[in-house]
Amino acid sequence: MSELLKLNNFINGQYQPPVKGKYINNYSPRDGKVYSLVADSTSEDIDLAVKAAKDAFPGWSNLTITQRSAILVKVAEGIEKRLQEFAEAESRDQGKPVQLAANLDIPRSAYNFRYYAGHILYHTEQSMTSVSEPKVLSITQRTPLGVAGLISPWNLPLYLLTWKIAPAIAVGNTCVCKPSEMSSMTAYLLGQVLNDAGVPPGVVNIVLGTGPNAGSHLIQHPDISLISFTGGTKTGELISRVAAPLHKKLSLELGGKNPALVFDDCNLEEVLNVSVRSSFNNQGEICLCNSRIYVQSTIYETFVKRFVEKVKSTWKVGDPQLPTTDMGALISTEHLAKIEYYVALAKEEGGVIELGGKRPNDSLPEELRGGYYYEPTIITGLKPESRVMQEEIFGPVVTICPFDTEEQAISYANNINYGLSSSVWTENGKRAIRVASKVQCGVCWVNCWMVRDLRTPFGGVKQSGNGREGGEFSIDFYTEQKTIVLKL
Ligand code: NAD
Repeated sequence: MSELLKLNNFINGQYQPPVKGKYINNYSPRDGKVYSLVADSTSEDIDLAVKAAKDAFPGWSNLTITQRSAILVKVAEGIEKRLQEFAEAESRDQGKPVQLAANLDIPRSAYNFRYYAGHILYHTEQSMTSVSEPKVLSITQRTPLGVAGLISPWNLPLYLLTWKIAPAIAVGNTCVCKPSEMSSMTAYLLGQVLNDAGVPPGVVNIVLGTGPNAGSHLIQHPDISLISFTGGTKTGELISRVAAPLHKKLSLELGGKNPALVFDDCNLEEVLNVSVRSSFNNQGEICLCNSRIYVQSTIYETFVKRFVEKVKSTWKVGDPQLPTTDMGALISTEHLAKIEYYVALAKEEGGVIELGGKRPNDSLPEELRGGYYYEPTIITGLKPESRVMQEEIFGPVVTICPFDTEEQAISYANNINYGLSSSVWTENGKRAIRVASKVQCGVCWVNCWMVRDLRTPFGGVKQSGNGREGGEFSIDFYTEQKTIVLKL
């Protein structure tokens, strides 16, 4: 048997094995086989990476904005040049269809760098003279903080990691990244792109490994001045507990259980088309997926019937490598077990499985039988307060419930601890704004889903996190502002 590829840390511009020499098995969700080994980094590796980032900070932060911008553009180009290779790597590592990675994850990863390369060129600072005596000129200056700790999850691996790296380094910080141990491949490949693009050594360091071994040391490190974390709500709580007393700047993008409110004056055809994707894209493993669909009772029966038919006839589960596949494999065997647990719980709670509710093993070729596949699953008959409708499942499971009035729809939407995103479907403009304004969340899409303009603030309310990233909001997060007051 040929030796498995070892994914090593990228520190100070060089790939290096973890100090303790330990590795974790990296399984491909496609067939459940170990296909590479991921560095099981410890505090020693984090220390090396933070030192490299600290040493690189003065040089990087002193470059002109134009110089940093030009380097970011080269990173974007570097990813674009290797798009297919990155898409295949992301798919093999995460389980998503190659075509999804090639159309969504990887182009967006490149765009994250391209966007911030442009944004910093046009960002302006303010100065103002006093409105009363004594006359002064106040100048507001922004400075990077130093070394940023960037921690990302497994669902959109490169997309979410670069969404942190790009703004962090665009404004002059250096960083230490800790991608998910379950999907480290594209972060590993990114090191090569960074070197080819001329990113100076130490500006971006990538340390692989688990949360307890590597992540927990990163968030406590005294030289880490800010932490941007995307992941589960429980992990977010843990990180807050550690980082808050250390006065680190913290941005938390956490879990969700997003509602879609479908009114009877909607464009039903469009809702059905989009709902297939908003429920099952990326195997339902997108924090923005709609997992609770509330439909006005007047069209409820029709909606359920047509939605089930549509998913059944159009949404293909299978080999992530095939261009015809819509839904690949889940991230891990543990996650598959979690999905099965919630489907069993749904039955106990009185739910009716309208579609799916099982593994598609019989329809899979022999080669894929060890993979982590699950059928797109539609459940009705649950109460809005049931556990299945309250807890984040983060997989290909969607629940549908009827509502009667606008007030009831809003109350169902808000009757939950989460508040990341939502969708409202109605052709009545006034109602759209009325309802969207009342749903508690960071982003509400009206008659669409997951349309992202990177200039707008992104983030959640309640247990979906705090802080906003995107456009100017990331610039705010990754810099400190100082006012200099000059007597005239
Ligand atoms: P997770 O919280 O288990 O892990 C996220 C990252 O944190 C991983 O890199 C992990 O190794 C690290 N980590 C774990 N324990 C840690 C610790 N003690 N200290 C430091 N780091 C630690 O989340 P996950 O399972 O990888 O991702 C799924 C979750 O992410 C879901 O809840 C999903 O909703 C959420 N998510 C949110 C957004 C958003 O924008 N709000 C986007 C994507 C995913």
